Amino acid sequence: MAGINENYLKLQGSYLFAEVKKRRIRYMEQNPDARLISLGIGDVTRPLPAASIAAMHLALDEMADEKTFKGYAPDGYGYSFLINKIIEFDYNARGVSLDEDEVFISDGAKSDTANFQEIFETGCRVAMTDPVYPVYIDSNVMAGRTGSYNDGGYSGVTYLPCTAENGFTPELPEGKVDLIYLCFPNNPTGMTLSKKELEKWVDYARKNKAVILFDSAYKAYISEPDVVHSIYEIEGAKECAVEFRSYSKTAGFTGVRCSYAVVPKGVMGLTAAGKSVSLNDLWFRRQTTKYNGTSYIIHCGAAAIYTDEGRRQVREMVGYYMENASIILQGLKDIGIKTFGGVNAPYIWLKTPNDIDSWTFFDKLLNEANIVGTPGSGFGPSGRGYFRLTAFGKKENTIEAVKRLKNLSLKP
Ligand code: PLP
Repeated sequence: MAGINENYLKLQGSYLFAEVKKRRIRYMEQNPDARLISLGIGDVTRPLPAASIAAMHLALDEMADEKTFKGYAPDGYGYSFLINKIIEFDYNARGVSLDEDEVFISDGAKSDTANFQEIFETGCRVAMTDPVYPVYIDSNVMAGRTGSYNDGGYSGVTYLPCTAENGFTPELPEGKVDLIYLCFPNNPTGMTLSKKELEKWVDYARKNKAVILFDSAYKAYISEPDVVHSIYEIEGAKECAVEFRSYSKTAGFTGVRCSYAVVPKGVMGLTAAGKSVSLNDLWFRRQTTKYNGTSYIIHCGAAAIYTDEGRRQVREMVGYYMENASIILQGLKDIGIKTFGGVNAPYIWLKTPNDIDSWTFFDKLLNEANIVGTPGSGFGPSGRGYFRLTAFGKKENTIEAVKRLKNLSLKP
């Protein structure tokens, strides 16, 4: 029998959302008439922007004609027509210049953020904000970059606590780390980092020759003017940071699959002999070996969101979800629950009432209000005593959920 990668055995019993699903299914089996409302998993509910749908129909027609049929996308990067729109609208508009061969179109920020670590050696010291999007930690566990799971976290990982006490602003690590995962606007806390704070991280990374893996999957939700959209708005970041973006939450593409990674040519890694190697070259090599590209049809759907009507439709979609966020924030405030986030991100992070633990609060919401949320402890040790609700539901369900929350007994 083939030996297995035993690092997989260190992973926790089930991926957080699988456990949520299991409990939800069990509840439905026992209470088949219950009308559950999910404010849990971060999936969207609005249909695709009309501009993307029209563009994908046209692209499909092109595929039906031998004169315009397309096979594999161009090696490694993807089609220029989308890359150039990204550079113009997502970067030049923010004062950032990029070359075409610094942008890699992909099928999701989940796969990109999970896969990127494989171009680094197993011995790299990894730091990540805590609570954290579980993919960063699990992919490093699988790669053997951590010890075992103990008391809510993995040994060998530098957790950077983000809690109400520090205003959800992580402190720089005391020692040297090599890889730093930052996600802002943050999933799960919905909080952002100020430009000044982000500058500290870029400064740290440059001094320590570390690489920042910056996930800005939620940048479309930024509403406040002083929040940076891209880490490259910080001077020097092009020497030390890789950025991941996704159309999933920007344009409702969770089921379509399209994202991109920006790997500036100036971001370097080191060989054991101390030689600098461009991460852009390595990522290109990795993508051409393991990924055959995002389809032409999907590229067209993504490019359409940069048209005038596409941008308007995306703004409307984001506005719809952020209205839900305001409804949830207000409802929780009315019943005296302390909340965070929900202003520059579609996530509301709340402190559980009477400090009950996250899974107990999950069961309480499920049993007493038929609402499914996500326990904060599932996102890391600093998520204990917190809980995440998302604004991705239908508006009428969100209103109904808030009504139910108001009837919840919060007495200890
Ligand atoms: N990064 C963060 C922080 C996320 O919350 C998510 C999705 O929930 C992703 C990446 C994954 O996005 P995609 O659908 O592009 O794989």
